[in-house]
Amino acid sequence: MQGGSALLLVGGNSFAESKSLVRVGLVTDLHHADKDPRGSRHYRESLEKLDEAKKLFTEFDPDFVVELGDLIDAAETVETELGYLETVHEKFVSLPGEKHYVLGNHCVDTLTKSEFLKVVRQEKSYYSFDKNGVHFVILDSCFLSDGTPYRRKNFKWTDANIPQAELDWFKADLDSTESEQVIVFAHQRLDLEDSESHTVKNASKVRSILEGSGKVRAVFQGHSHKNDHHEINGTHYVTLVAMVEGSGAENSGYSTLEVFSDGTISIDGHRKQNGYTWK
Ligand SMILES: [Zn+2]
Repeated sequence: MQGGSALLLVGGNSFAESKSLVRVGLVTDLHHADKDPRGSRHYRESLEKLDEAKKLFTEFDPDFVVELGDLIDAAETVETELGYLETVHEKFVSLPGEKHYVLGNHCVDTLTKSEFLKVVRQEKSYYSFDKNGVHFVILDSCFLSDGTPYRRKNFKWTDANIPQAELDWFKADLDSTESEQVIVFAHQRLDLEDSESHTVKNASKVRSILEGSGKVRAVFQGHSHKNDHHEINGTHYVTLVAMVEGSGAENSGYSTLEVFSDGTISIDGHRKQNGYTWK
């Protein structure tokens, strides 16, 4: 585990005078399933890895925790997949703070969106909320090019899209918020070319909306199962490592995010997860 205090130093100045506005716990791509490992994916171990994250999050005391998608992995039947979801959700819901869920393609492999959301007790797949002057947006890119929502094994993982109605909502939401500090959570990536495999296929359109607002500081995403960071026209895009990858606690990955009153955003990465600090 990396120490949190070192990240609170930038250029030798401490943030003593800058107040912490919001504290967030982040996990992604747990892919929990009661299945034997396949390749580098150790489906059952995500539960223990989540126990370790819970210890750290309990000390950190976040306002909320975001799960950035692919909480579960595929099953052959709706009943089995619901069982995977109930098991991992019971543990996830015991983490400190409010919980927010981003839909990943694997969350709705066999399930429908409403079946998934009912178990995690979340009303919508995309929405926004405010915390202490910071505005947060949860996006849902689990739609085919023709606008059909992912469900019951109908999707191609390379065909992720944000349909027009959600784009319109996103633009109106960014226009109406008074906050100049907006943070977006998504599963599929918004920082790649539209033709790349892990991208939201209309990511360039999404970026033009968020850049047009001038308010979006950072986007956090999963899906690629690796550390990555791009800064595009003033917005930071951070891809977080997958909790499911590799056996043992040392291969886990999770992070805490803190937004400060002077605009500093700090991500403290644990295990395989990188950390970042931006003024
Ligand atoms: Zn995944």
